[in-house]
Amino acid sequence: MPPLNPEDPSTGSAASRAEEARQALLARIGNFVETHDLAVTASNLAAICGGLSGSHPELAQAFAAREIAGEPIDQRWLDTLGRLDPDNHSRIAELEALMDKLEYSLMRFAQTARSAQSETSDHRGALGARIEAMAEIELDSAAAGDLAQVLDLSRTMLARIEQVESAMARSQAETERLRENLAKARLEADVDHLTGLPNRRAFERRLVSAAIEARAKGEKLSLGFCDVDRFKLINDNHGHEAGDRVLCAVAATLNEHAGDACFVARHGGEEFVLLFYGMDKQAARAKLDAIRLAQAARRLMNRDTGQPFGRVTFSGGVAEVTEDSDTRSALGRADAALYRAKQEGRNRVMVG
Ligand code: GH3
Ligand code: MG
Ligand code: MG
Repeated sequence: MPPLNPEDPSTGSAASRAEEARQALLARIGNFVETHDLAVTASNLAAICGGLSGSHPELAQAFAAREIAGEPIDQRWLDTLGRLDPDNHSRIAELEALMDKLEYSLMRFAQTARSAQSETSDHRGALGARIEAMAEIELDSAAAGDLAQVLDLSRTMLARIEQVESAMARSQAETERLRENLAKARLEADVDHLTGLPNRRAFERRLVSAAIEARAKGEKLSLGFCDVDRFKLINDNHGHEAGDRVLCAVAATLNEHAGDACFVARHGGEEFVLLFYGMDKQAARAKLDAIRLAQAARRLMNRDTGQPFGRVTFSGGVAEVTEDSDTRSALGRADAALYRAKQEGRNRVMVG
């Protein structure tokens, strides 16, 4: 940054202060991502920006409390923060729109670079041939001097065109690389790193599209929340890593028993969410209950210590999405049903 000049009337203006604050916030976000070794995804940036900019005090408090407790600020924990942030969805939608625009601009740039390159190379070829043909012409001495100058200029120009062409080829390759990275980042942004299931972000998108499709076809659509029972005890007794393995085992049961008519995702923490295509809430409840029984029948062992984990069960809450024109209201009903399942003794599925 150039040194500030105290004589300069613009020094300390509102605009320059805003610019400094913007730079400082950007640096803090970058630092945070680096320090905690986080992925650069739309949802991470939305949460970090909300917490660090002060625009979302609850997130800021959650970050501070986590640091004070000395617990890791990692992807798993960040995934559980989504529910603190009511603006998260609109911010993610904005970032996604931005990514769409970026992808479109990259695509247009690659196209323009390709066609410009093929045009210039056609002209370069023709110009080169013409220059060499003219060099053969024999003229009287005055005209020969003029022609030699024109030919020199033309050769210089030809060399310049070649340089521009190779620079363009390099930036075209770079653009292709950026496009590939963007596509990969999008894919990774939809997957939960621990279990390999789709994550909450992917679920939210699928919920919206499945609801539109179900309404258009006049079909039913239901959703269910599952929350592992007394999971904190598993962490406390066996450690966080063993807890992670238990989450993967539960994810595998859900995935294995859900079948094609369901979409399973990790909602965050020890919570999973399912979409039941073509099912009303009673059918969905029966399906989720069958999965619950399958999970409760499994006996899991801590492979590090040989100690059994005991019975790992989950409670569930189901609601019918197509029962209400407001798609998101089903999330609240399923959550309330899950809460009742916990209250009534856990290891059961209730309908909202
Ligand atoms: P309840 O039956 O009422 O759901 O009890 P619970 O112990 O399962 O619920 P609580 O919300 O008290 O604890 C959930 C715990 O899950 C706390 C948190 O540290 C842990 N947790 C969240 N995400 C992860 C994760 O990715 N891995 C591990 N190992 N633990 C996690
Ligand atoms: Mg929970
Ligand atoms: Mg739980």
